[in-house]
Amino acid sequence: MKAVLDHVGIAVANLDEALAFFRDALGLEVAAPEGVPSQAVTAHFVPVGQASLELLEATSPDSAIAKFVGKRGPGLHHITLRVDDIDAALAQLRARNVRLVDAEARSGAEGALVAFIHPSSAHGVLVELKQARLKSRPTVDNIGSDGRAQLQLRQQQRSSKTIAVGDLEIVILSDGLFRLDGGAMFGVVPKTFWEKTSPPDDRNRIQMCMNPVLVRGPRTMLIDAGCGDKMTAKQAGIYAFEREFNLQHSLVVAGESPESIEIVLASHLHFDHAGGFTERAPDGTVRPRFPRAQYVMRRGEFEDAMHPNERTKGSYFLENYKPIADAGVLQLVDDDATIMPGVRVRRTGGHTMHHQIVMIESAGKTAVFAADLLPTVAHLPEVWVMGYDLFPLDTMSFKRQFVREAIEREYLVLFEHDPHVAAGYIREKDGKRYVEPVS
Ligand SMILES: [Zn+2]
Ligand SMILES: [Zn+2]
Repeated sequence: MKAVLDHVGIAVANLDEALAFFRDALGLEVAAPEGVPSQAVTAHFVPVGQASLELLEATSPDSAIAKFVGKRGPGLHHITLRVDDIDAALAQLRARNVRLVDAEARSGAEGALVAFIHPSSAHGVLVELKQARLKSRPTVDNIGSDGRAQLQLRQQQRSSKTIAVGDLEIVILSDGLFRLDGGAMFGVVPKTFWEKTSPPDDRNRIQMCMNPVLVRGPRTMLIDAGCGDKMTAKQAGIYAFEREFNLQHSLVVAGESPESIEIVLASHLHFDHAGGFTERAPDGTVRPRFPRAQYVMRRGEFEDAMHPNERTKGSYFLENYKPIADAGVLQLVDDDATIMPGVRVRRTGGHTMHHQIVMIESAGKTAVFAADLLPTVAHLPEVWVMGYDLFPLDTMSFKRQFVREAIEREYLVLFEHDPHVAAGYIREKDGKRYVEPVS
């Protein structure tokens, strides 16, 4: 059985005293409390690397934590190991006559499946097994969600960031989190290098996000739209989507709605950018998701996406853009062009033949939606190019001149897939390039 430490549960008698130690004395960050009414506890997560400490405070004298503290005093309560297949793990334990508290996995927080192993069979340690639920419905509310260290990341995705660019306003939105293979994300770069900046999970995947951007100007524009709600359960398992909070919520937070979007602009048509362009109607058909919008795509990209080949068919799904053409709301552009005053597209090639970035310019200020040219901050060095790129040498040559330009002209670069840095300035100091994040 392959298992990863998810968290260590610590029963707390007096929360203030516990915080005085973990937060104040140790200087650790404590996430906002989460109530678990079924257990009559409040949990305070303390991220430590890829795992967390979980400070458990009883909210009722009947709570198991209250009883534990009453009998043994505060202290270590349980450890939680994350497994890929909890049913298989329980079967393996049963076969070895291990005493289980839960004969079958049951529902835990955040749609996870959990089961406890009795301490008498585990050298005096209460062990919880946990599996992020992937098996049942492929809906947004019960997929994904690994370790508690994710908590802060999720909260970060929920806040909407509004930035003024001259007379235009941009809002960084979120369609949630997902994961892609770390090797594929960094192409020829050895893991020993990339794992430092992008730590992989037990399936070698790295954390990414989908951050479409709203532009308010003469018209209201959405650039890319995340993966949307049409992904299958199998895809949800592969990509570990965490979309409890998604574009729909993010638009509401930004004070918008699907009806208020007038232009939808595509960087390219891979599913993690274009999946949210369409939605499944109650009758099962797929239709444009933004009922009043004109959709703008690059002709070459649209044609390539309509005819995927063996190499590209894992990312191009017709249901994401064909219904838009069928509905008569598609506008194709052939060349670099201005889409609305202050917003123009620029072909980069590389990632796909017709991949484009979006220049947002007003009153001498420029923000750039870099899409998959610079998906994360880690992709700043020239050779840190995705294995997914169809024409990596083109990515490198465009990136070389673009990064120089971005430094000289102080572009605010928007990183669509970086879970920690949504926007920042590329700087150069003593020959070293880095990104100065904008909070
Ligand atoms: Zn892509
Ligand atoms: Zn992408």
